[in-house]
Amino acid sequence: MAKIIGVGSLIVDITGYAEHLPVHGETSLGQRLVFGPGGKGNNQMTAANRAGVKAIIISRMGRDFLSSIMAAHYEREGMSTTYIKADDAETGSALIEVDTTTAQNRIIVIKGACDHVTAEDVLETEADFADADAVITQLETSVESVMACKALAEKHGKPFILNPAPFQSVPAELLDGVTYLTPNETEAEFFTGVPVVTEEDAAKAAKVLHEKGVKNVIITLGAKGAFYSCGATGETLLVPGIRVDAVDTTGAGDAFNGGFAAAIAQGADVETALQFANCTGALSVTKPGTAPAMPQREEIDALMLKTYGKTL
Ligand code: ADP
Repeated sequence: MAKIIGVGSLIVDITGYAEHLPVHGETSLGQRLVFGPGGKGNNQMTAANRAGVKAIIISRMGRDFLSSIMAAHYEREGMSTTYIKADDAETGSALIEVDTTTAQNRIIVIKGACDHVTAEDVLETEADFADADAVITQLETSVESVMACKALAEKHGKPFILNPAPFQSVPAELLDGVTYLTPNETEAEFFTGVPVVTEEDAAKAAKVLHEKGVKNVIITLGAKGAFYSCGATGETLLVPGIRVDAVDTTGAGDAFNGGFAAAIAQGADVETALQFANCTGALSVTKPGTAPAMPQREEIDALMLKTYGKTL
C-alpha cells in the first residue's frame, strides 16, 4: 500500500449550536453540543487514509479528556498513532459557536499541544520518510516542524505537498522548491498580493509563486474547481468543480489535499490526481463536519467514473 507522512495538527472541534449567539456579557441558551475530530493535519490524513493510502501523522496532543476523542477517531479509522506524542499542554481545540438562525459561526482555535511539535519530532521519523511515496503538511503546527518535513522530503526525493493554511508569514526558504503548493483563493492572495477571483487571476498569482521557487501551483477555487500551473513547462489546467448538493463546505480544502496526496502517492499523473482531488473535495461538502465528512474510496471511484470515465 502506498504511504504518505507529514507533520499536522490534531484539533478537537467543540461545536455549540444556539438560536442566538450572545453579545459581550450576555448568556444565551444553546440546543446542542458536539465533539468531533478536526484540525487540518488530521482532516487531510483522514481523507488520504479513506482514499486508499497508509497516512502517518506526526503530531502532539495533551493528556486531557479531549485526547481520547482524537484517539477514538484514529482507532476507528485504523490510522497510525505511532508518531503522536503526549504533551503537557492541552489538546488542540476549536470552540465553534453556530447560530442556527443565520447559519453564521464564530470560531476560536487554541492550538495547544500542536504548537509544541518540534523539528526533532519530525527528524525521529526519518525512516518512514525514506520509504514514503509523498509528504504532506500545512501551517497549523510550528514552522520549524514544517521546515523539517520539507528538508526530509527533499533529502529522500519525495514529492512535498504544502497546503499553506492557515495563512501566515513564512520564511522564503519554505516556499522555495515546494513540489506542490495548494492555496485556496484567500491564501493565494496573501502569498502573492494578487486578488484571485478568475482563472486569469489564478494564473497571475501562480506566476508570482513560481518566482518564489514553487514548482507546481494548485489554487483551489471552491465550487469553481481548481487551477493548476506547472513552473517548468508553463502548462496550465482548470479542473472545473463538480455540481453537488452542498450541505457544509468546511473541510473541502482538507478533503481536496488529502485526495490529491493519496493520488500522487499511488502514482497518478497530475491531471488524474487533480480530478481525484476534485471528486474528494466535492463529496466532502455533501456531508456535515470535517474529518467525519471525508468520502470513502468507493465513493470517490464512483464519482471519478461518472465524471471522467476513469478511476485511479
Ligand atoms: P477551502 O476549504 O480551503 O477554502 P475550497 O473552498 O477552495 O477550499 O475547496 C477545495 C476544493 O473542494 C475545490 O477545489 C473543489 O474541488 C471542492 N469544492 C469545494 N466547494 C465545492 C462545492 N460547493 N461544490 C463542488 N466542489 C467543491
